[in-house]
Amino acid sequence: MRAEPDRVDWPRVMPFVFLHVGCLGAIWTGTSTFAVCFAIALYFLRMFAVTGIHHRYFSHKTYSTSRPVQFLLAIWAATAVQRGSLWWAYHHRHHHVHSDDPEDAHSPHVHGFLWSHIGWITSRRNFPTDYSKIKDLAKFPELVWLNRFDLVVPILYAVFTLVLGMILERFAPSLNTNGPQMLIWGFFISTTALFHGTACINSMAHLMGKRRYQTTDDSRNSFILSLICLGEGWHNNHHRYQSATRNGFYWWEIDLTYYGLKMLSWAGLIWGFKPVPKSILEEGKLGLAAKKTATSGAHAQSKKNSETDSETEVNSSFAADV
Ligand SMILES: [Zn+2]
Ligand SMILES: [Zn+2]
Repeated sequence: MRAEPDRVDWPRVMPFVFLHVGCLGAIWTGTSTFAVCFAIALYFLRMFAVTGIHHRYFSHKTYSTSRPVQFLLAIWAATAVQRGSLWWAYHHRHHHVHSDDPEDAHSPHVHGFLWSHIGWITSRRNFPTDYSKIKDLAKFPELVWLNRFDLVVPILYAVFTLVLGMILERFAPSLNTNGPQMLIWGFFISTTALFHGTACINSMAHLMGKRRYQTTDDSRNSFILSLICLGEGWHNNHHRYQSATRNGFYWWEIDLTYYGLKMLSWAGLIWGFKPVPKSILEEGKLGLAAKKTATSGAHAQSKKNSETDSETEVNSSFAADV
C-alpha cells in the first residue's frame, strides 16, 4: 500500500486549489458580522470534532461511547472535510509508530515544512486507508461507508450553509447575509482555516515549542498551538503518553477539547475517560525540575561570574590606585 510514489499527485491538489480559490468569493458576496461569526464558530466546532473525535476517539480510543453515538460523532467529524475518520485514524497511528523517522508521512525534519503541512496529503501513497491496520474500526460497516464516500457529508455541509443563508436572507434581513455569502464564509473560508489549523500540528508542533519529555521524536508543547487547535498543541505530552483523554497534563495547560469532552460525558454521551498515569505526571515534573535546576544553575554561575568580574574590576582599580 505504501509502495506508491511519494510525491505530489497533481489531480489531488485540485480540491485544495478549489477550497483556497473559493475563499476569494468573498470579494463578490461581501461580508456581514453574522457570516464572519458563523465561520469562526464553525471553525471551533469542527476543530473540536477533529481533535476530540478523529484524534482522541478514533485514533487513540481515549474514551468509550455507544455505537449510534459513535456514528453521529463520525458524521460530525466528517464535516471538517479531512476525509473519513478511518483514513484519519490509520494515518495518525502510522505517524505515532514512525514519528520523525523516514517512514513518517509528515515529518518536517525528514521531508521539510511544506510537505509536512500540505504536500503529504496529495501523495498517492497516503491516499488509501489500510483497513487491516485498523481492524477495531473497520468492523463497523457504517464507518467504512462514511470513509469510502467521504465527500457526502462535506457536500451536505456546504449545502446546509447555502440554504441557511437563503433562509436568513428571507426571514432575518437585518443580518445582511444571504446564501452565497454564508457558503463562502461558512464553508470555504472556515474550512480552509480549519485545514491549516490542523496541519500546524503535523508541521509546527514538531518544530515550535518546548520539550518536557525526552521522546524519540521531536514533538513539542506550544501554548499558541494549543489555542489554535483546542489543546492539541501539548503535542510532546501526547507523544509521551497517547492513551490519555487529556493532552494538557497539568491544570495550567489549557485543553479546550478535554473540557468539551467533559461536557459530552456529563450529558451521558461518552464515558470511560483514560487518565494520565501518575508516573507520567511525576516524570514530567522531574523533567521541569531538572530544567529549572539547570537554568538556575546557569543563572547562579553567570551571577557568580559577574560578581567575580566586578571583584576583578575593583581589585584592578585598587591595584591601579596603588
Ligand atoms: Zn506528532
Ligand atoms: Zn495522536
